[in-house]
Amino acid sequence: MMQEYLTHPIFHVLAEIAEENNIETYVIGGYVRDLLLHRPSQDIDIVVQGNGIALAEATAQKLGHLKVSVFKNFGTAMFRYKGTEIEFVGARKESYRSDSRKPLVEAGTIDDDQKRRDFTINALAISLNKKDYGRLVDPFKGLQHLQERLIKTPLEPGITFSDDPLRMMRAIRFATQLNFKIEENTFKAIRANKDRLTIISTERIMDEFNKIMLSPEPSRGIFLLEETGLLEMFFPELTALKGVEIIDGIGHKDNFYHTMAVLDTVALYSNDLWLRWAALLHDIAKPVTKKFIKGQGWTFYGHNHIGERMVAKIFNRLKLPQNEKMKYVQKLVNLHMRPIVLSEEIVTDSAVRRLLFDTGNDIDDLMTLAEADITSKNEEKVKRFLKNFKIVRRKLKEVEEKDSIRNFQPPISGEEIMETFHLSPCRLIGDIKNAIKEAILDGIIPNKDEEARAYMFKIAAELMKDKETNG
Ligand code: ATP
Repeated sequence: MMQEYLTHPIFHVLAEIAEENNIETYVIGGYVRDLLLHRPSQDIDIVVQGNGIALAEATAQKLGHLKVSVFKNFGTAMFRYKGTEIEFVGARKESYRSDSRKPLVEAGTIDDDQKRRDFTINALAISLNKKDYGRLVDPFKGLQHLQERLIKTPLEPGITFSDDPLRMMRAIRFATQLNFKIEENTFKAIRANKDRLTIISTERIMDEFNKIMLSPEPSRGIFLLEETGLLEMFFPELTALKGVEIIDGIGHKDNFYHTMAVLDTVALYSNDLWLRWAALLHDIAKPVTKKFIKGQGWTFYGHNHIGERMVAKIFNRLKLPQNEKMKYVQKLVNLHMRPIVLSEEIVTDSAVRRLLFDTGNDIDDLMTLAEADITSKNEEKVKRFLKNFKIVRRKLKEVEEKDSIRNFQPPISGEEIMETFHLSPCRLIGDIKNAIKEAILDGIIPNKDEEARAYMFKIAAELMKDKETNG
């Protein structure tokens, strides 16, 4: 019996009203699964054998005239109580046609309703009825599968996935989020039905994909997407990273495995979805820029710039936000090698200042990505890189403290230059401003008003003299 799990105060109220009105009522789905897994639970789903909307309204009334949102077309109703969304639906029976994931729906029993659920662990229900309050209703061994950490469909998996192909994405998403295995026949059925994904909207696919991206170890999901053939269906640029080519006995690393390692490392340090996306896409242009050059081996010239452009195309096709999030991912993809290149050479202050200028507030994220990008098998090399990274990080801090380049604002404005030299708008003003900026980045002068002003007079005199000499 599961009474001790039903701690939310809504359950007793519901049980009372269900009893008064003689309606069979159950809590079902993700809420029950998460209770049993001791995960923080989200919304509560209530299934009733009968009119769900009526039960929602009666309950909301009793709890103090709460506002109920009713969705007549779906036969569902919802209200918020003590910070939780509580959704009510009548038990349904579903049947599917081949061209749509929208089923034909009719009223059904709790048993019918459990059969239409995607996985056994999502089909668990707990009774809220007086006769057996707290009884776990588990027709498909959901509890056992929770213990065995298995994702398995309640009915024949081929039919389940063909009916609603989004469930294939959900299977992989749950396996990744919960660190579960996909049961063998369920897995085979995904592979067999992968082409059915074409009837699913990009938005829904990406919703699941982003949940995979936000899981503790996103590569698990992406490997599963790859093995089932789903990845190729919506993200061919990623599968193109796979494989190693060898010429004259020289190979390059498998960029798919490398990308997965970088993604997982970044995920250890950050829960930010878009930083994780930058990790996913940092080498996306390697396949299209790959060239073997005799004497040099494998090269990927410009893969950061081309990658930056590919990010825009990919975001557009996958219906991801076309806003500052995308620009952020583009920027990180473009700059991802800068800290590494820097750490290969003598780390000069001015190179560090320029990196800080180009990256601004995203510098910490760029350093996280660049450090995760070091996946060489050569331990000596890794050690040297990591040591140099420490130097880069220390210098970044020193330079920032001294010169606050991170949010660089020119210390002398165009107006001030115009006023000082009685100039009307012309190219010279931009040249003077630029010379001051360059002097700060090169460390010739500090990022301070007074020194910048003195430098302005000096540089203006030089530039004006040049102008006179050159006519
Ligand atoms: P999460 O909150 O992490 O998304 P969840 O299981 O609560 O997990 P929801 O999408 O809110 O996910 O779905 C609630 C329940 O509805 C699921 O537990 C499952 O029983 C059922 N369900 C949702 N989507 C489907 C689907 N495509 N096919 C069959 N059943 C589904």
